[in-house]
Amino acid sequence: MSHADNNILLAGIDAGGTSFKCALSDAGGNILARQRFATVLPDDVINSCSEFLLAEAAAQGGKLKALGIATFGPVDVDPRSKLYGTILNTPKPGWSQTALRHAFETRLGVPVNLDTDVNGALLAELQDGAARDAQTAAYVTIGTGIGAGLFAGGALLGKPLHPEFGHIAIARHKDDPFEGACPFHGDCLEGMASAKAFTARFGSPAELPADHAGWQIEADYLAQACWSLSLSFRPERILLGGGLMLADHLLEMVRAKYLVRSAGYLEQSADQIAKLITRPAHGDDAGLRGGLYLARQALS
Ligand code: ZN
Repeated sequence: MSHADNNILLAGIDAGGTSFKCALSDAGGNILARQRFATVLPDDVINSCSEFLLAEAAAQGGKLKALGIATFGPVDVDPRSKLYGTILNTPKPGWSQTALRHAFETRLGVPVNLDTDVNGALLAELQDGAARDAQTAAYVTIGTGIGAGLFAGGALLGKPLHPEFGHIAIARHKDDPFEGACPFHGDCLEGMASAKAFTARFGSPAELPADHAGWQIEADYLAQACWSLSLSFRPERILLGGGLMLADHLLEMVRAKYLVRSAGYLEQSADQIAKLITRPAHGDDAGLRGGLYLARQALS
């Protein structure tokens, strides 16, 4: 790092449906301060984050140069669009049509680079996480909803829009009569395998024993999702994150179901599948690291 970089500060935000995580880092991405604010109404959480970042930047004696936001969606991520950085129609009360990027740009007076939470997380994992040695990768979050960021050929896929992989059709498990939780499609992937869908029929994931049949059903759906990714664009790494993946036993079950489902078609061994389907290295910080990565990108 050159001497001129010593005073440069970058800000990152992981804008989630439950909380906004903010961090201030140096030019090298080392986190100097961090804070979490509940996702209340837009004006309030934007104010809280802005005040925190400005106060911390002043305390560090540095100059805030850029902000990166990895956000929940749906959101306009096209830099050429008038609505770039605006949250689109969402069931989240008060948040539809929130000009998130513009609001932070006004409050902080620095360039703001914004992308989806999963795209941000994927970029951070490619840079220095679990996909750092991969050319082609997917990041799938299995939380309240399901979303995915996809990367191939040196770029995120789906631009200038973003993929909606969470809503792909899947084959229903033979022992699963659940109608599905997606308000649009019922039994799409998100409708059957999100944490919301899981909890609706099996109860709290944290309290369900590992040998409960619900986990086998969940693993089957996630294995189908991973298999669809492999067939569609052959990622070298599929990173499974989000709240439901906190269940330690689930990852191994997904790999086993994937092995059976693939039926040898892509000639992937169990060892290769274990390397293919894995966890993000940044864990719960994947989105926040994504925000800081996007901030660095705004400077280049
Ligand atoms: Zn759906």
